[in-house]
Amino acid sequence: MFTSIQQDIEDVLIGENEILAKVNEMGQAISKDYKGSCPVIVGVLKGSGPLVADLLRRITIPVTVDFISVSSYGPATRSSGLVRFLKDLDFSIEGRHVLVMEDIIDTGLTLSYILRVLRGRYPASLEVGTLLDKQARRLIDIKLRYRGFDLPDRFVVGYGLDYAQRYRNLPFICALRPEVYS
Ligand code: 5GP
Repeated sequence: MFTSIQQDIEDVLIGENEILAKVNEMGQAISKDYKGSCPVIVGVLKGSGPLVADLLRRITIPVTVDFISVSSYGPATRSSGLVRFLKDLDFSIEGRHVLVMEDIIDTGLTLSYILRVLRGRYPASLEVGTLLDKQARRLIDIKLRYRGFDLPDRFVVGYGLDYAQRYRNLPFICALRPEVYS
């Protein structure tokens, strides 16, 4: 399995079972916290696709799901904070309890822009969850309701995260060999 990309991987930081156990925990917590309120889970494409797909199946209360897609300008492996909406939500979030699910938060610039836009649409509440958190690199303080794993300052791929649009299909989180970038 994955033999053609195995050689690009330097090391696996978080294994598949560990990820799924954490997603299960998050699903249980969300089901408990939002009981009776039918929240809307907002996934940020493309990275949070696998997370939202797995998470939804671990949530046991009524929910709806929607997606946005954003692109940040600037270098491939660093965020510039300049964000463009490629795809907006399909439905209104006015009066809804909104939970934005991110794959990874690094500086927080991308997410703070997204939150500013969504806050302007009068949701009943607006919370954030992320699978991965590079807390040490944060430039903007963001309150996280759900947080999976803390990560060191290392560029990672897998489970939705890409480098040059590749590696999203890996079921684990890993770092790539430096040669891959050159
Ligand atoms: P921020 O605006 O928080 O600095 O960056 C958020 C975005 O940068 C993420 O949604 C993701 O697209 C990208 N990003 C940040 N760190 C990583 C990483 O380690 N790997 C990958 N593949 N993308 C990252």
